Amino acid sequence: MSDRYATFANSGPGRALVKRLGLPAPPSLRRHRPGDPLVPGPVLVEAAAGGRLHEPVRAILKAAGVSDAGERYSGLIFDATGITDSTDLKSLYDFFHPNARALLPSGRVIVLGTPPEACESPREATAQRALEGLTRSIGKEFGRGTTAQLVYVTPGAEGATESTLRFLLSGRSAYVSGQVIRIGPSAFTMPADWDRPLDGKVALVTGAARGIGAAIARVLARDGAQVVALDMPAAGDALADVANDIRGTAYQLDLTAADAPGRLADHIADRHGRLDIVVHNAGITRDKTIARMDADRWDSVLDVNLSSQERINDVLLARDLIPHGGRLVGVASIAGIAGNRGQTNYATSKAGVIGLVESMAPVLIDREITINAVAPGFIETRMTAKMPVMLREAGRRMNSMSQGGLPVDVAETIAWFASPASGGVTGNVVRVCGQSLLGA
Ligand code: NAD
Repeated sequence: MSDRYATFANSGPGRALVKRLGLPAPPSLRRHRPGDPLVPGPVLVEAAAGGRLHEPVRAILKAAGVSDAGERYSGLIFDATGITDSTDLKSLYDFFHPNARALLPSGRVIVLGTPPEACESPREATAQRALEGLTRSIGKEFGRGTTAQLVYVTPGAEGATESTLRFLLSGRSAYVSGQVIRIGPSAFTMPADWDRPLDGKVALVTGAARGIGAAIARVLARDGAQVVALDMPAAGDALADVANDIRGTAYQLDLTAADAPGRLADHIADRHGRLDIVVHNAGITRDKTIARMDADRWDSVLDVNLSSQERINDVLLARDLIPHGGRLVGVASIAGIAGNRGQTNYATSKAGVIGLVESMAPVLIDREITINAVAPGFIETRMTAKMPVMLREAGRRMNSMSQGGLPVDVAETIAWFASPASGGVTGNVVRVCGQSLLGA
């Protein structure tokens, strides 16, 4: 779906006009291409006194071949875990004030903290909570494709940060900004090859015939997974094309059929024996204000977007088809966070997906299975191409990147959740929305 305004604004005459009129200037974002280095330039790492993460982080970056010497940087990382009182927050100013202008376009800002709920005193928890304001403001202030995130690392999980640092520094997180991510001390495995972290894994992607689901299937396959691409029988041709392209298999199933969970479990048990990664992407909208909505619209949206996922998870878990190290990923939406006019059914189902993550994460920890969700904002797909033009333009521009995201941006975020090295990442809902103003 083409964003003609962004193309124009990035052309020679367009750039000048956009600047003169003070219009939004969508930067061209750094997205990952196979063979790219982790980051194109050096990354500066500094810490508040007493920080516990800067040394492990420096060691990770050094081993990955990332330099820390330069006058301009592709990344600024500040270890704020040493901050135990609001008066120490000045160290954020002392780091970001002189270095703000040294960040290159599509730069990455990462602030590392201790989750407030794991802090030892109310003073420390207050100061750690304050980090969110700085990070989210930097995301809005720096522009030029900069992303800014706050990563809370529980004490004891210092060694579990590599997959997250790699995701956030790379072009894979181009459309993720202003997020708060939590890493805990769960089991994880380092991949032999960071370009193919999913080698040997079996992944199911629902709604894989087109749009975001097709992109998820392609990215998981690129990262090494054997993908089972699932969609409705009516989408059979498109589904077969995706599956053939990625040397995966196509499986036609209506997820809402009464026998779907059992049939899916039988199919997986017979053909693959297990599912390491399950991505519940299939979703529908049936918009109407609640006063005008017939019961069918309510029922079908809730069933596809939420209840069928619960039924499928329950059967796969009960039949032990998701092994230790398993990864469950849901696709929510910023409508599930902010609510949306005409979408009571959709927003309820998507808020439910967030509820599923929050309620299941602690239950699955003993089995070393993680569960997370992405919450996409405005993504350029058939769904958003059909929106009325004014709403579509508002969705595209009302975020820190002044543009819509691409299906691949959602897919890359899911691939990070799915990595065997992301065992400490569970219970997270990460928005892929370019820091949209909706629900912020
Ligand atoms: P899409 O309509 O292009 O694709 C959805 C796919 O799910 C289709 O191929 C469809 O056949 C399949 N599907 C629907 N019901 C099914 C069922 N009962 N059984 C099996 N397959 C079924 O949508 P998309 O834009 O790619 O969105 C994918 C997901 O991302 C959805 O969950 C959607 O709610 C979410 N999302 C999208 C956006 C966006 O901007 N496009 C924003 C937020 C969230």
